[in-house]
Amino acid sequence: MGMTIEALAAQKAPATLKNFIGGAWVASTSSEKLVVPNPATEQPLAYVPLSNAADVAAAVAAARAAAHEWGEMPPPERAGYLFKLREALLDNRDALTKLVTTENGKVYSDAAGEVRRGIEVVDFACGAPTLLMGQNLDQVSRGIDSEMVRFPVGVVAGITPFNFPFMVPMWMLPLAIACGNSFILKPSERTPLSSQRIIEICAEAGIPAGVVNLVHGAVETVTGLVTHPGVDAISFVGSERVARIVYETAAKNGKRVQALGGAKNHIIAMPDAVLEQSVPNIAESAFGNAGQRCLAGSVLTVVGEARERLLPKLVEHAETIKMGFGLDEGVTLGPVIRGEARDRVHRLVDEGLAAGATMIRDGRGTGPSTGYFVGPTMLNIDEGSPLAREEIFGPVLSVLYAKDLDEALRLMAETNEYGNAGSIYTASGRAAREFKRRATSGMLGVNVGVAAPMAFFPFSGRRKSFFGDLHATGRDGVEFYTTKKVITSRWF
Ligand code: NAD
Repeated sequence: MGMTIEALAAQKAPATLKNFIGGAWVASTSSEKLVVPNPATEQPLAYVPLSNAADVAAAVAAARAAAHEWGEMPPPERAGYLFKLREALLDNRDALTKLVTTENGKVYSDAAGEVRRGIEVVDFACGAPTLLMGQNLDQVSRGIDSEMVRFPVGVVAGITPFNFPFMVPMWMLPLAIACGNSFILKPSERTPLSSQRIIEICAEAGIPAGVVNLVHGAVETVTGLVTHPGVDAISFVGSERVARIVYETAAKNGKRVQALGGAKNHIIAMPDAVLEQSVPNIAESAFGNAGQRCLAGSVLTVVGEARERLLPKLVEHAETIKMGFGLDEGVTLGPVIRGEARDRVHRLVDEGLAAGATMIRDGRGTGPSTGYFVGPTMLNIDEGSPLAREEIFGPVLSVLYAKDLDEALRLMAETNEYGNAGSIYTASGRAAREFKRRATSGMLGVNVGVAAPMAFFPFSGRRKSFFGDLHATGRDGVEFYTTKKVITSRWF
């Protein structure tokens, strides 16, 4: 039955997860491990090994051994494996959703959205034969033709965060292998179970041994991957601090790298925002997934009369949110990932208060007493507040006031250095157009609070939210996972 919540419930004691290397499940050679609890119940689910350089070396060797044959396989044949993977994932959709909720804490509907979004990348990758086409120009010069042909990069390692335990690995794995690379996944040590199941499903779908590999672990494992000469490319998603380290280290070691970092996303509510739809949508952006989205709305700038029109309704809405384990009936908000994450959110709120913020709604200390819960919290801040700058990663919405759109856009640009997402709520096409052109973030929503691009588009963070040139997914993903040759030929 593999990694499912039923299997977890049936085990007598939490098992230590294994790595998947060269088509076999093998124990890490490291004895260090961490417990993986359900963050809503604190019940231990598994132990995750902290794999060392020897484990990384074994995975790299297996991936390298598989890379040539997989890369030589005709793209339509490789796409056949992706179609099988897609079917197998769809067959496991409900079980995967429950697993995401159980290890991450997000409620079932959020987890279901994440699983759907992850599978979409496989849909996209199934187009490998079209995506991998090159270009040519007949008669580039007299009697001479030019063609550009794509080849796999080789061995790709993916390093992922806890907040989308299914979707973020799926941003990488399907496209990397569709492009003919072999792949090593190093999932978050806080949410390793969805990755375990992804890899099991890859094996069930018949993807050849060594093409996908899994190495559990944390800092040492990542260091092993980003410095290993047998790894050609690194896809990283996580916090800004670690993205910077991974970007620099991978580059220093001669690797191709894309590193997606943290965020501080602004929502601008104009006085003409349509309240009925905007209020629940803004609340979902700020509090959904317990604020643990890289696209979460973190600062709400109310423009002019929006302050009086919208804020009371938002507080009213927050009152209706019910916290608990995301598989239980009626629950609309889960916990944050760990006790330390909850304590950090509390600390950041305290620092904000000390710096002059005033509380609108205090969600701290609310919710079930077991589990790492923080209730929806709202504060009034000014632009100098630390709450305007730092990524909080909890269900906390800081409210700024602006007299007009110009001022709201200035606040977005100047209060923080991130550039992942941003949204505007308005009924005015002109305001929306100004926002689209001038907002400093790379993923923008117009009356959409979580402006997550679908798999066919690049995940386009900027500024401190992204280190690299080519983004994840979309054509950028194909460019990242392939290398080009340009051939100039003439025939005598
Ligand atoms: P994190 O940076 O703590 O961990 C990410 C990965 O890096 C994990 O696999 C972890 O094991 C590894 N890691 C941690 N410390 C390391 C170190 N010192 N050296 C090498 N590797 C290390 O991130 P997280 O807390 O798991 O995830 C939340 C963060 O990810 C937030 O900042 C969020 O905004 C960001 N995120 C960004 C995007 C995006 O698209 N830009 C998407 C999802 C999450």
